[in-house]
Amino acid sequence: MDELASRLDTTRLRRDVALAPYTTFRIGGPADLFYDATAADDLANAVLAARATGVPYFILGLGANILIGDRGVRGLVIHNVADRHRFSEDGLLWTESGAVLGRLIPQAVALGWSGLEHYVGIPTTVGGAIWQNLHFLSPAPERERTMFIEEIFASAELLTTDGSRCIADRSMMQFGYDTSLLHHHRHTVLSVTFQLARGDIAAMHKIMQENLSWRGGKHPWLEYHPSAGSIFQKIEGVGAGRLIEQAGLKGFRIGDAQISHIHANIMVNLGHATAYDVRTLIATAQDAVEKQSGYRLQPEIGFIGEF
Ligand SMILES: Cc1cc2nc3c(=O)[nH]c(=O)nc-3n(C[C@H](O)[C@H](O)[C@H](O)COP(=O)(O)OP(=O)(O)OC[C@H]3O[C@@H](n4cnc5c(N)ncnc54)[C@H](O)[C@@H]3O)c2cc1C
Repeated sequence: MDELASRLDTTRLRRDVALAPYTTFRIGGPADLFYDATAADDLANAVLAARATGVPYFILGLGANILIGDRGVRGLVIHNVADRHRFSEDGLLWTESGAVLGRLIPQAVALGWSGLEHYVGIPTTVGGAIWQNLHFLSPAPERERTMFIEEIFASAELLTTDGSRCIADRSMMQFGYDTSLLHHHRHTVLSVTFQLARGDIAAMHKIMQENLSWRGGKHPWLEYHPSAGSIFQKIEGVGAGRLIEQAGLKGFRIGDAQISHIHANIMVNLGHATAYDVRTLIATAQDAVEKQSGYRLQPEIGFIGEF
């Protein structure tokens, strides 16, 4: 650990940092080491330093798709806050991977660039969005289809597992539903270039209002009910939430972890939920649904650290 520390800017390196505040679930024990990476080069350097010194590492975005164990994370958590970005005349948006989509969207819309506005209200960094090919089922009848971030993806700069840097185009990224190349290889996304299109600003605002109001009515509000979004993977044509509801588990609670009254595929933290509570609730839902319907639900979120 000391050798690793000597390779990083120690003013941004902390020990024993509670991770719960860095996740949307507000759950999780401490990281041995926690480093704020403030630029793409800094992110690359932190990953290379961890690899060179044999220290396990985890790259943390907004922590919106993970459950961190109660005993925390051994090794180094690299908190990606690298967020420089620039829009160019031809609609290209280059951005470091720690940029938060919710901050890029209003800038893109104000400049009349369309493509990002569909994802309004989803907590994510650009890196996290690429990791799982962020998607959203548009509620408006004229756009009723699932939109994926890959549709506006032009390229990304990756730090590959062999330590080299490369530019990956869309075909290299192996995008699919909830997946990308990053699920199979531990590459790091340093920066991303999106291709946006000219759009009508008023029309983009309308889309954002529709999407936000749909979300507000169907999902528990993160400010009051911390969660990690959908807990289980989609089951085509059936719906994981519907199966949980049919098993009579809406509102069911273990400790402070509860299956939301509003959306049964979302578990919420009522205040002091532990990772243990959530894991037990997940297992309970899996068993109950399997018994009732024969489907075995598979978690969609990542389980990080020691439980
Ligand atoms: C209220 C709520 C609503 C949601 N709604 C949606 C929705 O509509 N659609 C949807 O698709 N998702 C949704 N999600 C899930 C979540 O927003 C996405 O999965 C998001 O992309 C996670 O991004 P993050 O920055 O928080 O990643 P994190 O949760 O911090 O990390 C997720 C994974 O990505 C990896 N990762 C992050 N950055 C990098 C990088 N730079 N290089 C390599 N790997 C990286 C991490 O190591 C980790 O394995 C929702 C979540 C919540 C809490």
